Amino acid sequence: MSKGYTLTGNKKGLLFVISAPSGTGKTTLCKEILRQHPHMQLSVSCTTRPIREGELEGKDYYFINKERFRKLADEGGFAEWAEVHGELYGTTVKTLNDAEESGVDLLLDIDWQGAKQIKKNLEKGIYIFILPPSIEELRKRLSGRGDVSADVMERRLKNAATEIEQARWYNYNIINDDLETAKKAISSIVIAEHYRSDEHDR
Ligand code: ADP
Ligand code: 5GP
Repeated sequence: MSKGYTLTGNKKGLLFVISAPSGTGKTTLCKEILRQHPHMQLSVSCTTRPIREGELEGKDYYFINKERFRKLADEGGFAEWAEVHGELYGTTVKTLNDAEESGVDLLLDIDWQGAKQIKKNLEKGIYIFILPPSIEELRKRLSGRGDVSADVMERRLKNAATEIEQARWYNYNIINDDLETAKKAISSIVIAEHYRSDEHDR
């Protein structure tokens, strides 16, 4: 109780893991959390997928080819990695170590396969799954974003049903229907987790 109270509570170096089917609004919500909680850092993943318009190397992802990705995986450089929608994505061990050393909160925007690996291997973290209000609404949001082709969109929608089944083992499930409500819900979770008593540490 005595040391280091800040506006956001007494805990430091928390690990937040957020997953959602593509198009649900995870990027929108993560940006908002990072804006509201400046003590938090986004974990920048490696991916083999092509860079999209507006994305920046080292800020959104480290864009690497499959050969380099596999080499890094073989060398044990990833804390978790998975194939998502036909491309490879991974969180490096270095990213987690750097965050732990500097004591910042880390936000991992990763799929359920990666989240499961982190939960098993690290035995810590706060797991949040964001759900779309419906598959129809998900289709609208994906096509509204306009950055994926029709066949990629169909693949993502098909995957969404499988992904949603995983929501039950996450600590929190948030339906992103009204954006403001979802923002408040996530922000409340972040704040509350900083006040969790040590006996119930995650
Ligand atoms: P994701 O990162 O999960 O793929 P995005 O954050 O890119 O999703 O959001 C997909 C699209 O849906 C974007 O155009 C975004 O503006 C929109 N969107 C996000 N949340 C909502 C919401 N609650 N209601 C309506 N549209 C939303
Ligand atoms: P996108 O290509 O739209 O940026 O991301 C596609 C999916 O890959 C999203 O569900 C996102 O959460 C997931 N993803 C991004 N980075 C990682 C990562 O490092 N590991 C895993 N397992 N999934 C990731």
